[in-house]
Amino acid sequence: MSDRKLALITGASSGIGREIAKLAAADGYDLIVAADEPLVDAAAGLREGGIEVRSVEADLATPAGVEALLAATAGRQIDVLVANAGHGLGHGFLDQSVAEWRHVIDTNIAGTLLLLQPVLKQMVARGEGKVLITGSIAGHLAGSFQAVYNGSKAFIDSFAAAIGNELKDSGVTITCLKPGATDTNFFARAGMLDTKVGQAEKDDPADVAKTGWEAMKDGEHSVVHGLKNKAQVLASGILSEATTAEMHRKQAEPGSADR
Ligand code: NAP
Repeated sequence: MSDRKLALITGASSGIGREIAKLAAADGYDLIVAADEPLVDAAAGLREGGIEVRSVEADLATPAGVEALLAATAGRQIDVLVANAGHGLGHGFLDQSVAEWRHVIDTNIAGTLLLLQPVLKQMVARGEGKVLITGSIAGHLAGSFQAVYNGSKAFIDSFAAAIGNELKDSGVTITCLKPGATDTNFFARAGMLDTKVGQAEKDDPADVAKTGWEAMKDGEHSVVHGLKNKAQVLASGILSEATTAEMHRKQAEPGSADR
C-alpha cells in the first residue's frame, strides 16, 4: 500500500471537481475520484504523476452509491475529503418533475451528508483531516427558476459553517468553496443554456478549484471565488430576498438569453 496521503474527491469527472483532482494529484495525494459516469479518461490523465488513482462510478444521490464509494477506500485513511458532486435544475418549480427536484436534494444535500458523517467521525477520532465542500454563492440568493438548487446550496453553505464550528477544536477543518457562475457542464445539465446566466461569460473552473484548494489547505472556513461574486454576496446581505429573487429571474428565466 502507498504511504502517500489519500484524497477522496466527488464530482471529479468534469468541471471544478476535475480541476481539484488535478491539484490534489500535483500535491502528491493518491486519489479516489467519483462521479455517476465512468471516469476512465479523467483517471488516466491524473495517474501521470505516478500516484495511485481509483475511480468509482456511483450515484451519490443514493445511500447505496455513497456506501460503494466508502467501500472503495478499503479501510484506508482519508486525509482530504472534497465533497463537490452536485447539480442544478433550471425552469420553474411547477414545471419540474418530482424525480428531477428530488435528485437535486438527494445529491446536493442527502448524499453529501451521508458521505461527510462517517468520514468526519474517522477524522475527528484521529484528530486531523481536511474537508472541502462545494457550496455556492447561490446559497445567498433566492433562486427564481433554480429554486430547489439555490435552496440546496443555502443548506450546504449554512451546514458547512455550522459543522466547522462544532469541530473547531477537533483538528479537522471544514472549508466551504462558494463559486459563482463557472464554465462547466453545470448549465447544460441543468437545462439552462437558453438563460442569460447560461450564455454569460463565466469563471474558469481551474481558477475556482485553486481558490478552494488553497483555502482548504489554509483551513479557512469559507471562500468566495472572485471579486464580482464577493460583491454579490455582500449585496445579498443588504437586499431583501424578494429583490434577489427578482434579480435572479432576469438571469435564470427560460428564454432570458434572448431578452
Ligand atoms: P459539472 O461539470 O457538471 O460537474 C458536476 C460533477 O458532479 C460531475 O462530476 C458529476 O458527475 C457529479 N455529479 C452530479 N450529480 C451526481 C450524482 N448524483 N452522483 C455522483 N456524481 C454526481 O459542474 P460543476 O460546476 O463542476 O459542479 C461542481 C460543484 O460546483 C457542484 O456542487 C455545483 O453545484 C457547484 N457549483 C457550480 C457552479 C457553476 O456555475 N458551475 C457555481 C457554484 C457552485 P457526472 O458527470 O458523472 O454526472
